[in-house]
Amino acid sequence: MRQPSQIEYLYLDFDGFFASVEQQARPALRGHPVGVIPFDTTSHTCVIACSKEAKKRGVKNVMPIEQAKAICPDLILVPQSPDLYRRAHNALCAEISAVLPIQAIKSIDELTCRLDERDGQNPTAIANQIKTRLRENIGTSITCSIGFAANRQLAKMACKIDKPNGITIWHPKDMPTALLSQPIEDVPGIGKRMHKRLMRAGIFSMTQLWHLDPKQMRKLWGNVTGERLWYALHGFDIHAQPSSKRAMFGHSRVLPPDYRTLKNARECSRLLLVKAARRMRRAKLCAGSMFLTLRHHEFRWGKQISLHGIQDDQACLNSLDYMWDIAMATLPKHQKAKLVAVALFDLGSCDERQLDMFVDQDPMREKWETIASLTDRLNNKYGRTVLSLGAWRPPPGGYAGGKISYTRIPSMEDFW
Ligand SMILES: [Mg+2]
Repeated sequence: MRQPSQIEYLYLDFDGFFASVEQQARPALRGHPVGVIPFDTTSHTCVIACSKEAKKRGVKNVMPIEQAKAICPDLILVPQSPDLYRRAHNALCAEISAVLPIQAIKSIDELTCRLDERDGQNPTAIANQIKTRLRENIGTSITCSIGFAANRQLAKMACKIDKPNGITIWHPKDMPTALLSQPIEDVPGIGKRMHKRLMRAGIFSMTQLWHLDPKQMRKLWGNVTGERLWYALHGFDIHAQPSSKRAMFGHSRVLPPDYRTLKNARECSRLLLVKAARRMRRAKLCAGSMFLTLRHHEFRWGKQISLHGIQDDQACLNSLDYMWDIAMATLPKHQKAKLVAVALFDLGSCDERQLDMFVDQDPMREKWETIASLTDRLNNKYGRTVLSLGAWRPPPGGYAGGKISYTRIPSMEDFW
């Protein structure tokens, strides 16, 4: 494996993305502490993202509104606008790719670029070009922090060092000094569980972690991930493993407080499922299982069923109805549901599915699948849901599949 002697990667992370996009779009919010919330209908919810002004005052992401307001009384609460964030993401990526090709988009507010030899020799100039472009062509409210290093993992760590609006350069010749002062829980790939496991093994600092050898790391992790991390921390040109096959298509929705009846959750779950099925059909996959989950504080209910490699809305909705009938028959009548989630999984290619004899001979099946593909074409053509099986009534707050997420960049059709 190659151990580069030059900087080869850039990692970029937008600062307080959702809140700064709101400030850019609405000048009245600039310079003020802003907290983005899921709905504006209630005070029983959390700040899901906050501006740098709010952060300075001690407001944190996922902080209950009452608590945030108590420490920052002039906090301006803004309901989320997922479609705005999606458009901002696209506009920002277009500006960055005018400076450097984007190697991978890691989430709605993080991306990575590979540098050629010439760019790698002058990372500060590259970072300034990007920042200037964003400032001049997008605006001054959206800033980013940029890290440079020999590989993507180190660049990502460097990127978090100087927030907001920073530039951090970890040149291979300066390693590992800069790295060793970092807490081990800041290493991408060391989550809470792994951190505990390391502490049990007597590894408390980055210096200790750094001095392990690849075999020890492998043993600690119980798999090759530990060994790969060793090479990453030691500045080798290690590539991310090709992401494994898609595991599921799912959507969940937190229902507004005055909308938490089982009947409303059922209605909402239909829309979530149809949206998940649309995405699944776009990927040309079909589902071998489905689950439905309901949650309300301590209450949790879930049901999972096996399917015969289905992909059309009618088959999906029938299976969902079956699970709901069980839910309705067994749960207390006045049970509330704060969160409803559905997912299609055990995915397989539609061409290779092995059909059950009975299902295979179902003459209606082909018809329903044809209807599903016609529905998709029609909705795509009009850019909204013009045709659906049954009523299409999005819950208050709308956007069944377009809620804000760091990990998945929503596509246009999530908003219909
Ligand atoms: Mg960010």
